[in-house]
Amino acid sequence: MDYILTAESLSKHYGHFKALDGFSIHVPKGAVYGFVGKNGAGKTTLIRLICGLQEPASGSYTLYGVKNTEPGIAKCRRRMGAVVETPSIYLDMSAEENLKEQFRIIGLPSFDDIPGLLRLVGLEGTGKKKAKDFSLGMKQRLGIAIALAGSPDFLILDEPVNGLDPQGIIEIRELILKLNREEQITFLISSHILDELSRLATHYGFIDSGHMVREMSAKELDAACRKCIRVQVSDIHALARVLDGMDFQYNIFSDTMADIYAKVNVSELTLALAGQGCDIISMTEREESLESFYVNLIGGGKGHE
Ligand code: ADP
Repeated sequence: MDYILTAESLSKHYGHFKALDGFSIHVPKGAVYGFVGKNGAGKTTLIRLICGLQEPASGSYTLYGVKNTEPGIAKCRRRMGAVVETPSIYLDMSAEENLKEQFRIIGLPSFDDIPGLLRLVGLEGTGKKKAKDFSLGMKQRLGIAIALAGSPDFLILDEPVNGLDPQGIIEIRELILKLNREEQITFLISSHILDELSRLATHYGFIDSGHMVREMSAKELDAACRKCIRVQVSDIHALARVLDGMDFQYNIFSDTMADIYAKVNVSELTLALAGQGCDIISMTEREESLESFYVNLIGGGKGHE
């Protein structure tokens, strides 16, 4: 597989504190990679490293296959754009003026693409309106337009919908999907809310305490959150024997309760259990939510912010 970004054994310390600790990541080309972790998990630290704003203490990463210690890395960084923390926009300037400024900074003074770029992010009608009078969602879209100024094919967004209203969230989501599908831009999107990413991510990486806990595709996450039958029985050992006999997958999580991951024929199961002297107390169909998957994977509670 072609990877835009990889990292192995990456570490970054702030004093004695390890913000990244033996961290690894693999972002495939064309992916919308949801980078999920609690506040303080180390997401922004990784982003700062790959943007070249900070140096790792140890370990390495590659961008477009080029290692961070190789001379070609600066050129690779020009192929990517990033909106980190708050977008860097001039509040006293219009959207067009902001983009002109960015084009100047990166040495593209022809300004050719500006109307197209404004259209792409849905800010074409904003005229002379200053960025300070924009909604938060419009500011975020302007930040994305600025990051797109050098025509990157890899875009990093750090908590892009933080603080946005539901309409703003939908607009950003649609913009990301459009840029991914129509412009073939690979995304790395950090968030502390899994649910918000689940509508667009093709891949996930779960980070906790500076460590990659698990990477998986959206398909694998779907399978992990698959439907199951939750049963409560009078004799959990009898249930286990019967389910083993039927070759069903299951998970026992208390003295009386279990989740069964299979198409269950209810009367067959009831009969088999009755044969073992076991009663069914309750039976419900349920789907593990993304949130409970996330909590099981990296634990509940708030971050250490
Ligand atoms: P996230 O983006 O996942 O919320 P960060 O990467 O911003 O997490 O932070 C990871 C940890 O490193 C946090 O505990 C944070 O307090 C700490 N940290 C981040 N930047 C600095 C810094 N410049 N100096 C000291 N500690 C920092």
